[in-house]
Amino acid sequence: MVRLILVGLGALLLALAGFVGFRTFSFTAPPPPAAVEIADSAAYALDANAAAARLGEAIRFRTVSLASAEEDRAPFREFHAWLQQTYPAFHAAARREVIGEFSLLYTWEGSDPAQPPIVLLAHQDVVPVPEDTLQNWTVEPFGGLVRDEAVWGRGAIDNKGSLVALLEAAEFLAAQGRRPLRTIIFAFGHDEELGGEGGAVLMAAALAERGVRAWFVLDEGLAALDRHPLTGGPASMIGISERGSGTLRVRAVGQPGHSSMPPSETAVSLVAEAVDRIHAMPIERKLEGGPALGMMRALAPELSFTNRMAVANEWLFGPLLRQQMAGNPAAQALLGTTIAPTMIDGGVRPNVLPGEATAMINFRIHPRDDAVGLLRQARQTVADLEGVTIDWAETPRDATGISSTTSSSYALIAGLSREILSDAPVAPALVLAGTDSRHYTTVAENVYRFQPILLTAADLEMPHGLNERLSIANLDRMIRFYIGLMEAGAMQ
Ligand SMILES: [Zn+2]
Repeated sequence: MVRLILVGLGALLLALAGFVGFRTFSFTAPPPPAAVEIADSAAYALDANAAAARLGEAIRFRTVSLASAEEDRAPFREFHAWLQQTYPAFHAAARREVIGEFSLLYTWEGSDPAQPPIVLLAHQDVVPVPEDTLQNWTVEPFGGLVRDEAVWGRGAIDNKGSLVALLEAAEFLAAQGRRPLRTIIFAFGHDEELGGEGGAVLMAAALAERGVRAWFVLDEGLAALDRHPLTGGPASMIGISERGSGTLRVRAVGQPGHSSMPPSETAVSLVAEAVDRIHAMPIERKLEGGPALGMMRALAPELSFTNRMAVANEWLFGPLLRQQMAGNPAAQALLGTTIAPTMIDGGVRPNVLPGEATAMINFRIHPRDDAVGLLRQARQTVADLEGVTIDWAETPRDATGISSTTSSSYALIAGLSREILSDAPVAPALVLAGTDSRHYTTVAENVYRFQPILLTAADLEMPHGLNERLSIANLDRMIRFYIGLMEAGAMQ
């Protein structure tokens, strides 16, 4: 009998090992994207240095997002005039509209109206450079200096680099008298850094009203990394979804009075307890149900065997994987919603019981979750705490839908990326920050977020940070990528 059980167990183990092995070996990257031709700069006769000088000029317009009515409008007006002067062939070929206050919507009409258009996004506005950070810049942030093979200044990456590269590409084609087969729409917002309500929202609404249903939308959001944390090698990350966000306001009321003979709970103890519980409430974290699994699959050939075995068999190794990733904030953000208590307020004196205490808890919402469910869960978590109420401080935003990785447009973008950055495998990924593209989900089913530039981990600190700069090599990559995109995707 014992022998029989052992034989049975042995067979079961063998079957299990076989299954794990099978899953590991069949966990492979999707077929590589079809090659898309892009010429090198010499063949295109592109002058990357001249383009870099123009990006420098673009940076000199201080198009800082307009947070109030008092702020100077002149930089935006002057920037618009400069664009018209600098890219004359494109401006002659395309229709230009100013939407909202300063957003620019260009329509370069294709010869075949039956083809769905392409929508290409970039934004004109930049974040300010705080006075107290100036001493840490090695150049004048709005000087637009070209030095050490790079263009320096606020907006070089985020996002005038993209805007200028798009127009360099369009001008290059328009100047040769080329005309698109499929309409190309360029939408350049002026308030992306403030949320896009006065720019992208209005432009997307205008397009939707015109019945525009695009082949795809492409915006900033992710790029190629020289060392992907999973593989240690380069990888081009294409954003296929963007996290949502929301802030919960926790309010606790208590009996006000002197603290010499306190009730068992005070407003402060209640709010502390509520924050603690919500912070710790269970959130699902796993590879499935978001872009993480697709990313792992795309990078599978570069993963070590053990990592590949673990991610291919999440049903078995899930707890181990989660344990490994628990200490890694980036992994946590990729696998599930994150919860960060950020503010707490209550009481004015050490010996007085306040009548009320409040706290704010910031959520970044993974595509798997939604704001309605998270609020419900938070309320259940503190249901027994009398005097505690919870609401979203402002209307929360859910994550965007997940764009396809098997679409013809993904294949085009991935193929072009492989041409420009041949060492970097292409992988889908989740965008952890916010971009204007989230407003365009009514315009296209597939919205991608990718700048074809190669960055180091240190470079990732530059947007919104210090010494922002774009290498001329990266500017050249972007221009060739966009020419390739327009030629392969839209030109006759
Ligand atoms: Zn940006």
